[in-house]
Amino acid sequence: MTFLPSCHDVQTHLTEYAEGSLPFGRRLGIWIHLRLCRACARFLRGMKALPEWAKRVLAPPAEAPEAAARALAEVQAALSRRPRS
Ligand SMILES: [Zn+2]
Repeated sequence: MTFLPSCHDVQTHLTEYAEGSLPFGRRLGIWIHLRLCRACARFLRGMKALPEWAKRVLAPPAEAPEAAARALAEVQAALSRRPRS
């Protein structure tokens, strides 16, 4: 699956993501990444004075919440099938 961004991509584009200036597909990939990656979730939490946009970051993309939930479930299923290294 290639739509999931890397940790570097997520951390580099977090502000644009929060502002909603990224295309839907990229926002969805980052949203899913933030739910699967402890490092990036910690990075997000580490931004201390969480501004108003952070609340929006933590919410599913408004355009298609069921598509986001389905994509997240597929990624989690794929990861659970993959042996841990
Ligand atoms: Zn990450």
